[in-house]
Amino acid sequence: MVLVGVLALQGSFNEHIAGTPFFHISMAYLSRIALRRLGVKGVEIRKPEQLENVTSLIIPGGESTTMAKLAEYHNLFPALREFVKMGKPVWGTCAGLIFLANKATGQKIGGQELVGGLDCTVHRNFFGSQIQSFETELSVPELASKEGGPELYRGVFIRAPAILDVGPDVQVLADYPLSSNKELDSISVSEAQDQEGNTGSVKKVIVAVRQGNLLATAFHPELTADTRWHSYFLKMINDVGEGTSSSIVAVGAE
Ligand code: GLN
Repeated sequence: MVLVGVLALQGSFNEHIAGTPFFHISMAYLSRIALRRLGVKGVEIRKPEQLENVTSLIIPGGESTTMAKLAEYHNLFPALREFVKMGKPVWGTCAGLIFLANKATGQKIGGQELVGGLDCTVHRNFFGSQIQSFETELSVPELASKEGGPELYRGVFIRAPAILDVGPDVQVLADYPLSSNKELDSISVSEAQDQEGNTGSVKKVIVAVRQGNLLATAFHPELTADTRWHSYFLKMINDVGEGTSSSIVAVGAE
């Protein structure tokens, strides 16, 4: 059985690996069942030395400033950076994506420590405030099954970040046309830059990427009953040769 570690600092780490308390039944409960169905077991990780017991990591969504402060308090940043550098599979969702980005812009990002490693610029709270959270259908060719299963994926965006640009080694797995979001915060759009650095001319933003051992999604697959992203990550783990001895670690979410 694949072992799933959870770095349980803050946020929705439980939804990734163990589900939520019973009064939060529904999607998170379904998610727990889904992970079990995938044969994944979760282990909470809170200290740097606990990272030595696992070989892959999920950094879930949450509040990245709070999560960063807690990670700093627990002296986790050096161990997390080392983990990424060693080529171990790491998946960041939402705030986890912000953690993994080499560069972050957007509200209140100043001074916030990042793990880094993912060659991209992420814009925090790109789509606006909490009430501008939304769900949308994304086209994700990597999720289409060989048997011709659907490539459409319903993404849950909660005060989500967006990726504005990526380096040459980054594979874009999904993007999001800005025209499909009429409520979009105009500040975010005007701050967005295209590859040439022109502001305000961006027609779409990137919401899912892979760079070698790193996977990042701006949305929350752990809050849905659709297990395809978790399966994709498990496949990544197998691809990098960690196989069944691998573990997945999650760091808090919203
Ligand atoms: N807006 C949050 C942040 O900047 C991320 C939101 C999320 O993880 N759902 O940290």
